[in-house]
Amino acid sequence: MTNAPTLFERIIARDIPAEIVYEDGDYIVIKDIAPKAPVHLLVIPKKFSARIDDIVGEAEMGRLWLTASRVARQQLGDYRLVVNAGKGGGQEVFHTHIHILGGWEGGHPVG
Ligand code: 5GP
Repeated sequence: MTNAPTLFERIIARDIPAEIVYEDGDYIVIKDIAPKAPVHLLVIPKKFSARIDDIVGEAEMGRLWLTASRVARQQLGDYRLVVNAGKGGGQEVFHTHIHILGGWEGGHPVG
């Protein structure tokens, strides 16, 4: 039996619309539907894992962070990267993603 596709798999498949700001063969970066900062993006690997610590390969983990930091630098210059892992960590969508947050006027409010 195959599991139902995750929300992000449905976005990757264009089954659910999203504002896409970057895409390559392995990653998609979309605007968060409920932004917690003036700019709030989500970096999503197309290959499914439920949470970031399910990724075991160093190359795969490295490429995810490289993609996030490059897109963040290109889109924002200065930025914050956040990962929520597990319900207790605030994770709501169980398909690995990195949050890119930025765009605060005068810098991040808490420094
Ligand atoms: P998490 O809490 O799992 O780390 O983050 C999930 C993020 O996905 C949240 O910031 C939430 O606003 C965002 N989100 C939830 N549903 C949708 C959706 O349908 N479209 C987009 N673009 N973002 C979503």
